[in-house]
Amino acid sequence: MQYKSLNGKAKEVNFEDAAIKGIAEDKGLYFPKNITPLPASFFENINEFSNNEIAFKLIKQFVGDSIPKDILKTIIEGTLSFDFPLVSIEPNIYALELYHGPTMAFKDVGARFMARCFSYFNKNNPNEVTVLVATSGDTGGAVANGFLGVKGVNVIILYPKGKVSDIQEKQLTTLGQNITAFEVNGTFDDCQAMVKEAFLDTDITSKKQLTSANSINIARWLPQMFYFVFAYKQLKDKEKPLVFAVPSGNFGNICAGMMAQKLGLPVKMFIAATNINAVVPNYLETGIYAPKPSTQTIANAMDVGDPSNFIRIQHLFDDDLERLKEMLYSESFTDDETRAALKLLKEKFDYLADPHGAIGYLGLKSYLKTDTNCQGVFLETAHPVKFLDVVEPVIKEKIEIPEQIKDVLTKEKCAKEISSYAELKAYLLQ
Ligand SMILES: *Cc1c(COP(=O)(O)O)cnc(C)c1O
Repeated sequence: MQYKSLNGKAKEVNFEDAAIKGIAEDKGLYFPKNITPLPASFFENINEFSNNEIAFKLIKQFVGDSIPKDILKTIIEGTLSFDFPLVSIEPNIYALELYHGPTMAFKDVGARFMARCFSYFNKNNPNEVTVLVATSGDTGGAVANGFLGVKGVNVIILYPKGKVSDIQEKQLTTLGQNITAFEVNGTFDDCQAMVKEAFLDTDITSKKQLTSANSINIARWLPQMFYFVFAYKQLKDKEKPLVFAVPSGNFGNICAGMMAQKLGLPVKMFIAATNINAVVPNYLETGIYAPKPSTQTIANAMDVGDPSNFIRIQHLFDDDLERLKEMLYSESFTDDETRAALKLLKEKFDYLADPHGAIGYLGLKSYLKTDTNCQGVFLETAHPVKFLDVVEPVIKEKIEIPEQIKDVLTKEKCAKEISSYAELKAYLLQ
């Protein structure tokens, strides 16, 4: 499998090179050159396959010759060692819980798969790779946890001081070993700007192989296809048309769902539910794509003003807005609406959601008003415990802290505080 750059000026590369580079030399996102659908019988007989078998069939063509089949199977087994339950909420509405992994966010799947691939690549490659990543919360923890102890890879995480939850901060500052956390005096946008500057800085890139672990990296993005199919497998009624509602920020998760659909997963519609950072809903309504600086909300993992993966979605639909609208419905919701949904889910259905999942639920409910003859799955992308400050006052109850979180809370924070790009650069060059 070869990957092309969506800017069209860089040479094509295989899975390994695309993953290690992160982004093409012409600054374009990598995209698979060909996508071959799986046989219809695979989806018709989906209940005969284990999750590991499903994942292997979905990802095999995208990995190509970069990783031998038996090793790829081991990577998948290691990645998917937790559950992906589909929980019935009300008639025709299900929550797909993606938070049963070690850092309790869906990003564990992509981060663990990517880290295991890098661990394999490093066996034949004596050069160290530095993963540089900016986080508004969940990415940092998942990447740190996924890459902990992977030989030949150093991970540097930048997060905005005082703007991630206590649990999130502990998850990314307490691991040590090959993981270094930088606490930046500034916003998430400042962290991201520093990362971008480092990628463009030839003083650094001439000496170090830098890569990203955000969803622009194909090794983190593509494994997110898996659980859309795991959800399908768990549905009792496979005849009724199926729609997925995905709480979206950078649009990597929903775009992975669309890739699963390309492979043959029967999906009638995707619903991109956003917070008030509504670049995509506005685009579908007006035809004008207008990125802007992000606004802070209670669903902070989706505070994105310029969604990095949207260009991949446009490419999947040949940059044709009308065709895109036939498969993508999008709506944005305010913090008040999100809180009301959290409360409703708890009081009426005894379901504890997080702010991101609640936005997915709202998007699904809104869509089902106009299309009544289908069943919908919304993605529950993080455990509510990661957003205690938001969720507890709304549901007026204490949330029980799960074991994997209790563990991290007792550990000592270790982070380097920085205020400028120069400080990051000095560290990278030392
Ligand atoms: C990252 C994240 C999202 C957004 O996912 P994208 O792939 O960026 O659209 C949604 N919910 C949670 C909890 C997240 O951490």
